[in-house]
Amino acid sequence: MEEHNNKPVVHLISKPENMLKTIYTAARTCYSADMPINIYNASDDEEKMLKLIERVVGSGHYSVIEHIQVTFAISNVSRACTHQLVRHRHMSFSQKSQRYVKEKGQFDYLIPPTIEKNEELKQKFIDFMGEISQKYTEFVEAGIPAEDARAVLPNACATSIVTSMNLRELIHVANLRLCTRAQYEIRMMVKAMCDELIKVEPWLKPYLVPKCERLGYCDEDKSCGRKQKLEL
Ligand SMILES: Cc1cc2nc3c(=O)[nH]c(=O)nc-3n(C[C@H](O)[C@H](O)[C@H](O)COP(=O)(O)OP(=O)(O)OC[C@H]3O[C@@H](n4cnc5c(N)ncnc54)[C@H](O)[C@@H]3O)c2cc1C
Repeated sequence: MEEHNNKPVVHLISKPENMLKTIYTAARTCYSADMPINIYNASDDEEKMLKLIERVVGSGHYSVIEHIQVTFAISNVSRACTHQLVRHRHMSFSQKSQRYVKEKGQFDYLIPPTIEKNEELKQKFIDFMGEISQKYTEFVEAGIPAEDARAVLPNACATSIVTSMNLRELIHVANLRLCTRAQYEIRMMVKAMCDELIKVEPWLKPYLVPKCERLGYCDEDKSCGRKQKLEL
């Protein structure tokens, strides 16, 4: 790992082969007398498929996008960041354990950019991480199990996590976490997740956006200016 590189490392490691066709088949099945397998085999018109998907998703018929499951491998993010991610209840997680994986020497950590850009505070932050690391090691060497020694580790501690979710949940997470009201690190991480998927499924771009882009207005207390608040 590059020293104090604050960028999350995000890779899409699993997604279905025929995403668009699968969603289209699910949507068409609701309105067709034909067998789903025939719909699936006959579907090759991307424009037609996208139109139907936009119509059903636009009208809140979200079950059709729940058939799509994607998995991301994520590292170089802070525990503070993943603590926010795991609040999402329709996602599955497997995270590096601080019980089973003992920190050896200085643990990896993330420096928030607001601290990083101030040389004096950055040095204080680094020194403090060093002190914590020494205390942690002292406890472990005194026979304290890692599951208890970790109590001194900070929110800034780097972690790794594998997460899976269906497309409905990913869109929901993107809508919430790409908003400028979301904390910067989770925003960067979710943006990287969305970018990874959009690279291979570009048709998803209009869905993986902050909620204001879908709503057409800002529903937060205060607008960042990207979209205006609704005048009531
Ligand atoms: C900008 C921002 C600031 C935040 N600040 C705080 C904070 O200060 N303190 C704090 O504790 N949290 C905070 N959160 C976390 C937030 O409260 C949610 O826990 C988190 O965003 C998960 O969102 P969710 O519940 O919509 O989504 P998910 O858990 O991903 O669920 C998706 C959707 O499923 C439905 N759903 C899921 N579970 C239930 C259920 N049990 N009953 C009914 N419907 C359900 C809901 O429609 C929900 O929107 C913040 C989040 C954001 C984006």
